[in-house]
Amino acid sequence: MLRTVGAETVEVRLPHQLEGLDALVIPGGESTTIGKLVVRFELLEPLRIFAGHRPVWGTCAGMILLARDIGKGEPLLGLMDICVERNAFGRQTDSFTAALPVPALEQGVERPFPAVFIRAPIIRQARGKATELARLSDGSVVAAREGRWLATSFHPELTGDDRFHRYFLEMVRESVALP
Ligand code: GLN
Repeated sequence: MLRTVGAETVEVRLPHQLEGLDALVIPGGESTTIGKLVVRFELLEPLRIFAGHRPVWGTCAGMILLARDIGKGEPLLGLMDICVERNAFGRQTDSFTAALPVPALEQGVERPFPAVFIRAPIIRQARGKATELARLSDGSVVAAREGRWLATSFHPELTGDDRFHRYFLEMVRESVALP
């Protein structure tokens, strides 16, 4: 999806692979497992340093890794001032798709985003400089931004809608243009 909107991409599994990158996406998956691998492959400090001056987007499990507060358990990167609840909609079989209003993407034209939630977390609270970007009809906050960091509960890469990827690339362009 990132390539289709014009980005060059590489996969990052080891610290040295972060060198020279403009931005990072931390994907979905399983946050405990990703967290263990981050520690085992000594990525924790390099990721924190990278995120200190580059845009980072966490989707689903990636959002959990970015959060400063995950209720029970230790946060991993602890960057965004959001309180996140894991598996907030129940089990894997309770996964669903929703037409999600996202004002930052819609530019005045009503065109909800087709959001795919797979055993997804929600944002219980966005605090400080973190601002909400989207809510489900039940009020659950499912996307937020804090400066150069973006978090989505759902998986925009699993739809044909590239607006979230374009939005992130715009964040990357803004940050590259900064001194
Ligand atoms: N349930 C997973 C977790 O808590 C996240 C699922 C996903 O990334 N789709 O880590």
